[in-house]
Amino acid sequence: MVLEDIKGIGLKRISALKEYGIYDIRDLVSLFPSDYRDTDVIKRADEADDGEYALLKGRVLSAPITKYVHKGFSFSTIEFQCTISGSRFSALYYNRPYIKNQFISGADYLVFGKVQSRKTICVLNPITERFDRVKNLKGILTLYPQVPGVPQNVLRGAIVAALDVVNIRTVIPRSECEDRGLKDLPDSYRMLHCPKNMSDVYAGVRRVAIEEMTKLIFAYRKVRQNSSFVRKDEYFDNAAELDRVIAGLSFNLTESQHSALSDIMNDLKADKYMNRLIMGDVGSGKTIVAFLAMYYAAMCGRQALILAPTEVLARQHYERFIQFFPDIQPIFLTSSLKADAKRKAVKDIADGAKIVIGTHSLFSKTIEFKDLALVVTDEQQRFGVAQRNAMEQKSKGADVLIMSATPIPRTMSLLLYGDLDVSLIERHNNAGSNIDTVFVPYLKVEDMFDYIAKRSRSGVQSYIVCPKIDEGETDTFSAKELYSELIKGAFRNISCALLHGKMKESEKNRIMSDFNSGRISVLISTTVVEVGIDVKAADIIAIMSAERYGLSQLHQLRGRVGRSGGKAYCFLITNTKNADSLERLNMLRNCADGFKLSEYDFETRGAGDFIGTRQHGFSPLMSFKIQKTYVDAAKEIADKLDDSILEILDPRYIDLISGVTLN
Ligand code: ADP
Ligand code: MG
Repeated sequence: MVLEDIKGIGLKRISALKEYGIYDIRDLVSLFPSDYRDTDVIKRADEADDGEYALLKGRVLSAPITKYVHKGFSFSTIEFQCTISGSRFSALYYNRPYIKNQFISGADYLVFGKVQSRKTICVLNPITERFDRVKNLKGILTLYPQVPGVPQNVLRGAIVAALDVVNIRTVIPRSECEDRGLKDLPDSYRMLHCPKNMSDVYAGVRRVAIEEMTKLIFAYRKVRQNSSFVRKDEYFDNAAELDRVIAGLSFNLTESQHSALSDIMNDLKADKYMNRLIMGDVGSGKTIVAFLAMYYAAMCGRQALILAPTEVLARQHYERFIQFFPDIQPIFLTSSLKADAKRKAVKDIADGAKIVIGTHSLFSKTIEFKDLALVVTDEQQRFGVAQRNAMEQKSKGADVLIMSATPIPRTMSLLLYGDLDVSLIERHNNAGSNIDTVFVPYLKVEDMFDYIAKRSRSGVQSYIVCPKIDEGETDTFSAKELYSELIKGAFRNISCALLHGKMKESEKNRIMSDFNSGRISVLISTTVVEVGIDVKAADIIAIMSAERYGLSQLHQLRGRVGRSGGKAYCFLITNTKNADSLERLNMLRNCADGFKLSEYDFETRGAGDFIGTRQHGFSPLMSFKIQKTYVDAAKEIADKLDDSILEILDPRYIDLISGVTLN
């Protein structure tokens, strides 16, 4: 059976699924619910969180009202009185005027959907059923990740239909399954998609997670086995020269920077290529270590390349490199270059320019290096799988250095990087334990803006970060709206600017450099500022709807401020009542250690935040919360597998792993 055969799935939805990374029915059934709701738990409407999916119970107060906004667009509102708490809420349906005939005033209904909890409480396009004749809203409700263009109920129906016919095979030998009490794999898929109770879900997760990890570990070993590591070219020894350069820096390297650098020097002498990850919290000073390694390669007459995830960051690297090492002219290459400048850069690279700085997007196969020896990737966690695959091609037969501020939890790095070498850089004294993290409820948000305005008059710069706006989703804190409100209000006499990912690169660069130089004092942006930006006078960051971000991401954002060592503030604007969100945000408030935060994120939110595959919809593993015992079991099982499982293993596992390990 193919996707086309499923009822309710037309061509449009098929292309939406493909866009998401779902190509056949096996992919489809591997898209597991991202969350579950137990219908035994009915929420009070006034306790539901903004944006949360909740099950409510209410009595219809009056006949539904339908408004026609313009031709072909209407919305219908149904008013409910909550039968548990007495509070009121409404259900809002777009373009379903017929809905008004389906509700009876005075009758009780179960209402399941996404809650918008602002001035009033409203559930958007919910599933509703008469309380006394419930059909679907019972047992465990499944919530699938949002696949744009495919509504939840269609997705759910398609998955259930596919489950009846799909052939799911395990790579784990029967004897292993028996020894470890692992259930039948197809049954476990069913338990995840159509659970009867929450223990079905837990059992299903364990079974499928162990399966997925076994496959990944096996794929990892396969890739390592196939790749060649033996160094073909050597660097000549220039250590004394390097010491001279280090001595000329405007600051002293810290002990951990020294030791990371000496790890690298040893790698470059070894007879296999370097494959090293430098992990260090934001602001810990990874860049200079990488620059020194690049400078060293250049001194040895070789080519070195650094790739940054954003244009803004690439430019910052370029400017800094020139400051540190005025004797070398690096080549700068990003998509915003004019055609002739780009052509010249490409030619210089082919002719052997020693230092190349740019964004990853350009390093496609068309760019030829004369003698590429060292490939550095900054903020590795930001690159998607496809981009990593392209970089991998570039770095065949080169030394590879990866820098990451998102500390990869140990379990995760074992799984995905195996024997990748790791150097840790600790914070130098200048960087950040001076940041106060403060909760701000919506009610106080005006006061906060006034405070930011006041501080900016005395020269303190601020970031205001708004969550990314998902298509079709309404959101009070879109960067654009907030910007236009603030420049008329609290910030009317203050120079502020808007920055977001959809702006032209040249525009973004201009704004960043104006912010850098202090001409702009408040930057209102999306998360484009998350990565790597280093502006010394920025001492305030306000994060709107803070509950929407992962902990590691929040920590990254917070790392943008307090860089001069003075007192700094991270404001978390939230009204969340959700216990998990509150715990997460409290964790951030009380902990400045990025590694601890990432372990916590990993254990509570699953692996998806750490590898850029969730949006590709492929690896089912990514949405699970992973326990260390699963990883241990998977490693033991993988030890016993041989190549015969390649017949079952989807080749994309090998691709996925190749992309992650850069080898
Ligand atoms: P990250 O690790 O987040 O990439 P950066 O490399 O951007 O951090 O470093 C943050 C800032 O600290 C930079 O301005 C850098 O020049 C500075 N820096 C790096 N190492 C030291 C040091 N040993 N002493 C003082 N300042 C340093
Ligand atoms: Mg950095």
